[in-house]
Amino acid sequence: MDAPYAKLEPLEAGIGRLLAHNPSAFTYYGTQTYLVGTDEIAVIDPGPDLPEHLDALETAIARRKVAAIMCTHTHRDHSPAAKPLAERTGAPIVGCAALALETVGPRADASFDGDYQPDRVLRDGEHIEVDGRPITAVATPGHTSNHLCFAYEGALFTGDHVMGWSTTVVVPPDGDMADYMRSLDKLRQRDDRIHYPAHGPPVTNPQQYVRHLVGHRLQREKQILTLVGERPRPIPDIVANAYPALDPRLIAAAGGSVHAHLLDLERRGLVEREGERWTAA
Ligand SMILES: [Zn+2]
Repeated sequence: MDAPYAKLEPLEAGIGRLLAHNPSAFTYYGTQTYLVGTDEIAVIDPGPDLPEHLDALETAIARRKVAAIMCTHTHRDHSPAAKPLAERTGAPIVGCAALALETVGPRADASFDGDYQPDRVLRDGEHIEVDGRPITAVATPGHTSNHLCFAYEGALFTGDHVMGWSTTVVVPPDGDMADYMRSLDKLRQRDDRIHYPAHGPPVTNPQQYVRHLVGHRLQREKQILTLVGERPRPIPDIVANAYPALDPRLIAAAGGSVHAHLLDLERRGLVEREGERWTAA
């Protein structure tokens, strides 16, 4: 694949991007780690714990001070490099909270990084500084319950909340569709000039793009309501009808998103469960 692995790509003043070599049906070409700052650096979404990615990050950082290693959330393609990078650079891990995986059993999904341990958790609106400029946390739960975006100089690093190549996967019980929709609405009310997602190209028309994502979800919701209105259906049947010609590798994720929609519709009193099947209320 002709992707710029291990090569620092300057995007604008103070923002560079480094692609990790973890391509998949869920990560596109891989996780994009962002380097923010000039004399001082913050590393956003250090990515998977791959020696060649860590080496490339260290080369790109050169001798500069790393003010913080920041994670948008704790999926395995985003946060595992935080710890080894902290060991190499001495920088603190600052950003999203760890998930209490043990206490919420079903959340201990294989895709979560259970080893993530932040030195400091940023709450919504809190910030750190690089070169005297703030990087501010914007709480955006939905894709995961601990998801943050980070705002810097009119740019928003969106992690997996807004992606440049695909819609976001929202899988219960940690993923929550109502939270995700509220978090999209939150971005709609901001005036960021550009979104830098962890996967896929930058989004240069953020307000329009987020409006499109909201529309897509409302369309999906309407489709699910129509399908369960015809007759009670189990989730695989809804997926087969709502996502024709789906890449087989994505069927489980689509089932998760349909489940997330159904739980949201159930809370709103619009659908009911009959064993494995769902029906209109
Ligand atoms: Zn993720």
